[in-house]
Amino acid sequence: MKNVYLCSISNIVSGTCLEDCKFCTQSVKYKANIERYEKKDVKKVLEEAQALVNLGASGFCLVTAGKSLTPKVLDYISFLAEELKVKFPKLNLIACNGTATKQQLKQLKNSGIDSYNHNLETSQNFYSQICTTHTWKERFETCENIKEVGLRLCTGGIIGMGEIDSDRQDFLNSLQKLNPESIPINFYHHNEALPLKPNNLTINQGLEFISETRKRFPNSIVMVAGGRESFFGQEQYKIFEAGANAIIIGNYLTTKGNEPHRDLEMLKKLNISIIHLH
Ligand code: SF4
Repeated sequence: MKNVYLCSISNIVSGTCLEDCKFCTQSVKYKANIERYEKKDVKKVLEEAQALVNLGASGFCLVTAGKSLTPKVLDYISFLAEELKVKFPKLNLIACNGTATKQQLKQLKNSGIDSYNHNLETSQNFYSQICTTHTWKERFETCENIKEVGLRLCTGGIIGMGEIDSDRQDFLNSLQKLNPESIPINFYHHNEALPLKPNNLTINQGLEFISETRKRFPNSIVMVAGGRESFFGQEQYKIFEAGANAIIIGNYLTTKGNEPHRDLEMLKKLNISIIHLH
C-alpha cells in the first residue's frame, strides 16, 4: 500500500508583490484578476488550519506575497506560528515568505515554524528569462540559510514555463546540492494576464519529471503542488505511480484545488493511505 502526505496552504498576504516573476499572478505588474489583501485575519487562519487538519493535512504553510521577509511580516508570521502551535502542536508549520536572513529564520524557528519553503523555481540559467527583479543566486542562498538554522528545507519549482529539458536537469542538479526534505513540483498554470505562453509539456513529460525527481531523491518528499488538476486532469492518479508521495489538499495560492472530498475519494480508490509527518 502506498502512503501520501497531505500539505495545505493559507495565502495570508495576497497579490501585493512588486517583483516581476512571469509565472506569478501575485505580481502587481501583470494586473491579473485575483483577490488582493494585506493581512488575513488571525481567526480566519486558525479556522482554515482546523478545517485542513480535519481533512488529514499534516502540513500547513503560511504564504505571503513579496520578495523578502520584512520586519512587519516576520512579526505577523511569528505571532501566527505561536497561536497555531498551541492549538495544533503536531502540525508541521511551514513559512513561505521570500528571501530571508539567518537571523529572521531563527526568529521563525523560535516561534514554532518547523519548515521554510523557498523554491529555486527553475535552472539558474533559465531564471533570468523568468524574473529580472532578483536573482536565482539569492534564492539559493536563502535555501542554504534555512538549512543552517536547522529548519526543514522545502524547495522545488515550476515546470512548463518554456524551459528546455537541460534546464530541468540543471534545476534538479541544483536541488541535489541542497538535498531538501521536501520538493514541491508545480506545473505552470497559465493565466492570460501573464507574459508566458501556456504550458506545452505533455502529461508524459510531467510524469517523467516526477519519476526522475523520485529517482534522484529517494528519501525526500516529492510533492505535486500547483497545477495537479489542470495539468493532469483525469490522469492525476499516475503521479503516485511516478513517485509522488505528497499533494496539496484544499486551495492553492490564487487558484482553486479539487474539492477536498474528491481528493480523499481518489486516494481511497487508489488504496493510498494518508500518513502524518511529525
Ligand atoms: S517574488 Fe514571489 S510573490 Fe513576488 S512575483 Fe515572484 S513568485 Fe510571485
